[in-house]
Amino acid sequence: MKKFLAAALLAATSPLAAQTIPSPEQIGALRDSAMDGDHYAWDITEGLTTEVGQRLAGTEAETRGRDWAVKKLTAMGFSNVRVEPFDMPVWTRGAESATILAPFPQKMVVAALGNSASTGPAGVTGEIVAFDSVDALRAAPDSAVKGKIVFIDHQMMPTQSGIGYGQFGAPRRQGPTVASKKGALAIVVRSIGTDHHRNPHAGVMTFNDGATPIPAGALSIPDAEQMARILKRGKPVTMHLVLVSQNIGTRQSGNVIAEVPGRDPSLPPILVGGHLDSWDLGTGAIDDASGVAIAAAAAKRIMDAGRPLRTIRIVWFGAEEVGLFGGLDYRAKHGKEPHYALLESDFGADRIWKVDSKLGDARKPEAEAIGNALAPLGIVTGSFTEAEGSDIGPMLADGLPGVGLSQDGTRYFDYHHTPDDTLDKIDPAQLRQNVAAWTAVLAVLSGGIEEPKRSKRR
Ligand SMILES: [Zn+2]
Repeated sequence: MKKFLAAALLAATSPLAAQTIPSPEQIGALRDSAMDGDHYAWDITEGLTTEVGQRLAGTEAETRGRDWAVKKLTAMGFSNVRVEPFDMPVWTRGAESATILAPFPQKMVVAALGNSASTGPAGVTGEIVAFDSVDALRAAPDSAVKGKIVFIDHQMMPTQSGIGYGQFGAPRRQGPTVASKKGALAIVVRSIGTDHHRNPHAGVMTFNDGATPIPAGALSIPDAEQMARILKRGKPVTMHLVLVSQNIGTRQSGNVIAEVPGRDPSLPPILVGGHLDSWDLGTGAIDDASGVAIAAAAAKRIMDAGRPLRTIRIVWFGAEEVGLFGGLDYRAKHGKEPHYALLESDFGADRIWKVDSKLGDARKPEAEAIGNALAPLGIVTGSFTEAEGSDIGPMLADGLPGVGLSQDGTRYFDYHHTPDDTLDKIDPAQLRQNVAAWTAVLAVLSGGIEEPKRSKRR
């Protein structure tokens, strides 16, 4: 038994034999120069949001995004720049409006949720039946819902970690299925957000358990609060809803991949990523142009410093917003191959405040070195047993190792999936702090960076 354990331990640690963690001085210098002067991440974020704009998955806009990405990553000097295409069903937004007909006629601001059925151009008219949670909707008798437009309210508050998005996202994610099963005509939810601007928040939902698709939209938060006040007056409320959404069939999306080749190509790569697609209402600056920018900028800064032992693989995932299609395609093609660590940035570009990792017991020294390298940026070390990320989530769940850098999410859900997700929401100084943190993590994981040999004079 003892012998077996020793052998297992040796097997688990032997890949580390070839590996050295760069000195704290070298890591600190890379971190601090990113903090002082990184411009790569801003260039990518500004370029992608300006020259491409919104990048709804599977549409020609996302295709232009991939073309832009290939050109940009090639121009930055990365190797093996390529697109791995995949097919996916594509949904698009059409004309949309919500009007209260009675008791107090007025217009509201609405956006269709991804995969919403169409009302047709003429729209539908129905009485509102209101609930304050999906559970309350579930508990209602079908007869209370049948033929009506369901409205679900909730009280999501801003938090640093963004933890509220799980619980308070339920009206959007599950509400449409539950409403459909009870025979509802349509559903509108209070936007899953924390702002008080008259901007609806888009987002995906799916009809599960054989539920027939029905029209499903999100009201802006001021309009949802207005709806609650109108309902409190106790009179029946009638809404005319127009959501001319369309399923346009199967189209192509793809993951854009680029690499910093390691000195030892036989070693598993470090994957750094974000997602290239966005919702269609803004220009996808915080979600997720800044994420793909942070990942590529950090990789570029390592490449500028020299050659890492391990390959750094940049993946700009396609079609994340509408169902993690890019992450699942990458997993299907490469998820069985060993990876040294997975990292993804998909929570805006405000200051990183925490690092979690899931590298395994044998790599605790690396996890601790990461914590030490990030402490000067005010980043606290969290868990050694978990990491998260959207596209990489399924592969982390499969058991692949990863590192998670948590941005401050306090204002993230003010802009998330709204027309307000635009470049002006990116704070360049906080963006540089993100790049500094990512660069430091990549330096620790790199296995050592060999500075380029000075070329001899001819
Ligand atoms: Zn995102």
